[in-house]
Amino acid sequence: MEDRFGHRISYLRVSITDRCNERCTYCMPQELQEWLPREGILTFEETLRLIRIAAELGVSKIRITGGEPLTRRGVVDLIRQLPKIPGLDDIGLSTNGTLLARPVEPNLTMAAALRAAGVRSVNISLDTLDPDAYSQITGRDLHGQVLDGIEAAIAAGFDQIKLNAVLMRGRNEDQLIPLIEFGARRNLILRFIEMMPVSTSEVLDERNFVPIFEAKRAIEARFGSLIPEPQFHTNGPATYYQIPGRQQRVGFIGAMTNLHFCESCNKLRLTCDGKLRPCLGSYLEFDIMKPLRAGASDDELRQFFIDVVDRKPEQHDFRNNYQPNRKMIAIGG
Ligand code: SAM
Ligand code: SF4
Repeated sequence: MEDRFGHRISYLRVSITDRCNERCTYCMPQELQEWLPREGILTFEETLRLIRIAAELGVSKIRITGGEPLTRRGVVDLIRQLPKIPGLDDIGLSTNGTLLARPVEPNLTMAAALRAAGVRSVNISLDTLDPDAYSQITGRDLHGQVLDGIEAAIAAGFDQIKLNAVLMRGRNEDQLIPLIEFGARRNLILRFIEMMPVSTSEVLDERNFVPIFEAKRAIEARFGSLIPEPQFHTNGPATYYQIPGRQQRVGFIGAMTNLHFCESCNKLRLTCDGKLRPCLGSYLEFDIMKPLRAGASDDELRQFFIDVVDRKPEQHDFRNNYQPNRKMIAIGG
């Protein structure tokens, strides 16, 4: 599938729940959360059918996300079905890491079960190594569980583990070097992400926003000039650098300040309530659950995907005073 601007769609991010066991300030409103009713969420059978159709149209990479995807019961059973879908060659998962070390059977962690089910790469969110700051950011005292989850992921032997940190002024600017050292000791890729206006609109403003060039400058002050690695890609929009004198990579995701951010976009999103979104930073979304539940044929659903891709914008709207109509947690990051 290719849109009007030459974006080739090969990557589908699939949110399987809007629920989460954390309350990150930048992701969801802090007021009492109202979850979607169960019947409003795609069943695994429906989700798998849509993924199969996307794969028939050229999608080769799937990332399971949420909300917190590991809070959905049966997630391992869903993932076990994915490698059977022809055309998919890369299965990833985004998680806050809190449940990765949990045993799902005696002597089997969630991380190991996911690896055995076919997950190749895992992105784990870790904004800080300071447990108190972690609690303030996420609203929960689960820092220790995340650290255990990271160790469980390493033990499970995924092909790739990335740590994602959202940059926040006054909250984790002091954590860049400690996070890099933490990643270095474990051979993990660190990625620093600019905050985007995807939660309630008051969360992002000039006072708490840290641009990636500032993070890069702080890292260079410590390690020297970072060495660009334009040939290294992980399917997403990050730009990667090597730390001089080390075998370590850091990535930067600058949706707000990188003006070329959308040029190589290859992504489509499926929300847990059955909406296809051609862009995270656009109001456009299309309800595929309706035709799916009304008995649409595979051909009709294929056409639906093609039509959505045709509506994909050239770039996101984040820089145009974008006011989110849905919180990140309900879209799937
Ligand atoms: N619960 C999982 C997690 O925390 O990784 C998966 C879903 S979460 C929505 C996916 C990613 O989006 C996380 O790395 C999170 O830090 C990021 N994210 C959430 N809100 C964001 C925002 N306002 N700006 C930038 N990144 C955000
Ligand atoms: Fe939950 Fe992830 Fe959003 Fe934090 S970023 S509230 S862990 S979905």
